[in-house]
Amino acid sequence: MNSDIKKMYCEQLGISEKVYDYSENIIAGLKERFEKIDETAEYNQMKVINAMQKNHVAEMHLNGTSGYGYNDDGRDTLEQVYADIFKAEAALVRPQIICGTHALNIALSSNLRPGDELLSPVGKPYDTMDEIIGIRPSKGSLAEYGVSYRQVDLLADGSFDYENIKKAINEKTKLVTIQRSKGYASRPTLSVERIGELISFIKEIKPDVICMVDNCYGEFVERIEPTEVGADMIVGSLIKNPGGGLAPCGGYIAGTKECVEQAAYRLSSPGLGKEVGATIGGVNKEFYQGLFLAPTVVAGALKGAIFAANAYEKLGFKVVPDGKEERYDIIQAVELRSAKGLIAFCKGIQAAAPVDSFVTPEPWAMPGYDDDVIMAAGAFVQGSSIELSADGPLREPYAAYFQGGLTWYHAKLGIIMSMQKMYEEGLITVE
Ligand SMILES: *Cc1c(COP(=O)(O)O)cnc(C)c1O
Repeated sequence: MNSDIKKMYCEQLGISEKVYDYSENIIAGLKERFEKIDETAEYNQMKVINAMQKNHVAEMHLNGTSGYGYNDDGRDTLEQVYADIFKAEAALVRPQIICGTHALNIALSSNLRPGDELLSPVGKPYDTMDEIIGIRPSKGSLAEYGVSYRQVDLLADGSFDYENIKKAINEKTKLVTIQRSKGYASRPTLSVERIGELISFIKEIKPDVICMVDNCYGEFVERIEPTEVGADMIVGSLIKNPGGGLAPCGGYIAGTKECVEQAAYRLSSPGLGKEVGATIGGVNKEFYQGLFLAPTVVAGALKGAIFAANAYEKLGFKVVPDGKEERYDIIQAVELRSAKGLIAFCKGIQAAAPVDSFVTPEPWAMPGYDDDVIMAAGAFVQGSSIELSADGPLREPYAAYFQGGLTWYHAKLGIIMSMQKMYEEGLITVE
């Protein structure tokens, strides 16, 4: 039977026998870790079902509304389901939130006022935040509205620089932004537990400061979320983890009633807030169903990330996190050391896709990003990175950031195909 599977890979999908055997060997050693991932998925699946049952999700909630979207019960119930899953007071979950960057911009710009200061105690945030904050001058940035910014980098060993964080907090500090995932940086992703420690430290110095967590790529990786360890607000994208691959767009902000209300007035309008915003067509259904699938989808993505780490580590590449580390997000960085390597890797991911497998990804300038970026994705939803995708900026150390996979088997094929491309280019030897 297994020889059937091997034939599929080697005779139909163009994988050489050496690359296939190497891969199967790696996977054979990961059985126990995969079992742990499945247990977390089971826990989170029950959490999601419980929240849906508790809120009496009903067939009518799956339908859309039109116009102003008053009395959109499907939308309002979904927001309560999100709030319950995240142990938050309230949530804003909307198709009108374009992406994660938009959600972050709403969360920040609605909760800050001129004269306030924003602090990042975990180093430079994700690239697209530069222009929101005004780190790079940009039209409409927080800086233009008189919101200042301070940053404290992590120490060389990845730990918090408590001394300088304490010094950076002042009478103007209104909001602290903590990015859970490493994003495009080579620093460790923060566990929810560590985020909790940081928040406790900050609140001891200034209890009324708002602690926001950029939760992108972190949802359902652990059994708890940052709102359970003191975060006032968590923010993420529905075309990442919580959309489960089915949400066609959207973002969320969950947290205290006050923070979420502020965000709602910013998203729609002062005076309107959460009361309006139609969910057109079948998007409610996709949000619910995607959320329902999210725990198992995230589990598949995690298995892919761990497989990639172990496979590339053994080939001699630096991988972050390493093959043995605990996981706190679904991203796997593989440092390929050359533009050629990064491009070959991305070509492999692309070639494994169900959609657009025949196109060749090329490095390109992207809005919001400093360097040229190469992106591989053959996704059902444009730009979805809970679907199997890889991208990376063309700069040292030429790291591919690999993530997603709606199923473990697809993630597996993507990684094997990336190694196949590297192998064909003479960039790796598999024995
Ligand atoms: C993806 C991501 C964002 C931005 O989300 P988009 O949907 O791409 O706009 C912000 N922060 C982190 C950590 C992310 O991973």
